[in-house]
Amino acid sequence: MEKSKAVLVIGGGIAGIQAALDLADMGIKVHLVERKPAIGGRMAQLDKTFPTNDCSICILAPKLADCYRHPNITLHTLSEVKNVIGQTGDFSVKLRKYARFVKEKECINCGECAVKCPVKVLDEFDMGLRKREAIYLYYLQGVPAVMTIDRRNCLFLTRGVCKICEKFCTKNAIDFEQKDMEITLHVGAIIVATGFDPFDPSGIHQYGYKRYRNAITSLEYERLICASGPTGGHLTRPSDKKPAESIAFIQCVGSRDLKNNRYCSSVCCMHATKEAMLAFEHDPKVKSLIFYMDLRAAGKGFQKYVVRGEQEYNISYIRSRVAKITEDRNENPIVWYEDPQSSKTKKTTVDLAVLATSLMPRKGVEELAKVLGIELDEFKFFKTDPLKPLDTTKPGIFVCGCCREPTDIPDSVTQASGASERAAEIVME
Ligand SMILES: Cc1cc2nc3c(=O)[nH]c(=O)nc-3n(C[C@H](O)[C@H](O)[C@H](O)COP(=O)(O)OP(=O)(O)OC[C@H]3O[C@@H](n4cnc5c(N)ncnc54)[C@H](O)[C@@H]3O)c2cc1C
Repeated sequence: MEKSKAVLVIGGGIAGIQAALDLADMGIKVHLVERKPAIGGRMAQLDKTFPTNDCSICILAPKLADCYRHPNITLHTLSEVKNVIGQTGDFSVKLRKYARFVKEKECINCGECAVKCPVKVLDEFDMGLRKREAIYLYYLQGVPAVMTIDRRNCLFLTRGVCKICEKFCTKNAIDFEQKDMEITLHVGAIIVATGFDPFDPSGIHQYGYKRYRNAITSLEYERLICASGPTGGHLTRPSDKKPAESIAFIQCVGSRDLKNNRYCSSVCCMHATKEAMLAFEHDPKVKSLIFYMDLRAAGKGFQKYVVRGEQEYNISYIRSRVAKITEDRNENPIVWYEDPQSSKTKKTTVDLAVLATSLMPRKGVEELAKVLGIELDEFKFFKTDPLKPLDTTKPGIFVCGCCREPTDIPDSVTQASGASERAAEIVME
């Protein structure tokens, strides 16, 4: 058996990025596979990060650039793993690299093509809160910083008409002749870092998501309050663009819930506190109410963060499970809950309701598990052993970040460094 020196990392969120950088710095060749047009994962969608309230993209961007430039890292964006055979130390991997229809080396990301594109579709990165064109930049600071043509919506690729982007591209970077490619890689170990998807709360009818415009999810809120987001960072309500001055944060939406996900999503108590703090920083008139079942602040400096929220940021924590949300004729959400002191039903009217939806395994995770020959646990996170918490059920394949279980950024990074060490043990033998 010939030992390969390279490692495959699947998923270019913060966990995959950290694992790739750690391995590359050890002198190991890394193939980083990301299915979206750019790396960055969910962290790129966040405004600030708890418990320091650092700007998320400011701490992520240097890592994105390091990944792109590192001589030991080969980035495969718009790519997916289709087949894996072999064993620890010697895996043969087939990737499918989807055509971008834009030449990466030629595109200077001037955006002229998008200005002329006649198509408008909901922007996935901004959680559908704004529209983008069929030729688009996945997000402003994304790496690689090049445009992509969305094959499902481009008029030329779907109906054979248009090509207006080609006409206006001064760099001749548009290439409709590009084809999807199959790439075969030989690697000694694999790290899976495919992250999470947010739970869709429209099935919890009583919270009115999708029926009430001012009931949004926490990831939508992150985009709303972010300076690079759809409102330029102004915290305005989707219904009438009025500034949100009273906000109810509803915790455990889809988590710790026998009908949906029984597990705790672990980051929501902290991100709700952060989101309420940010609202106050934008406008000190803002009053936030956080409705919670149990406040889980088990991390370095987390309890202090919650206390600061209460004392300095006009946040009230109310221990109560919200029964339902209705709305008044001005589309103000009305939150109905049991008052913990009097045990009486109470209601409060706010400008905006934010649903802290649970963190779930990425869509398509079963298929990936099958391709890799590894097992999932009862919730469809990758199965690990308590005494080997970064090992999957197949030797030579490791896991880190939110595809293992819901975790915050510091823990995702810690696990990524651990997984890269486990992989290095194999390829450096
Ligand atoms: C609203 C909200 C606010 C948060 N705020 C904070 C905070 O302030 N501080 C904090 O510490 N944590 C916060 N978190 C948690 C944080 O987002 C996660 O800890 C972090 O994103 C986990 O990173 P990851 O790399 O594991 O996953 P992800 O960020 O989900 O990245 C996974 C990557 O893998 C890619 N991928 C998926 N499947 C495949 C595949 N089959 N092939 C190739 N690529 C694939 C995805 O496209 C993605 O780029 C928050 C979470 C939410 C929901």
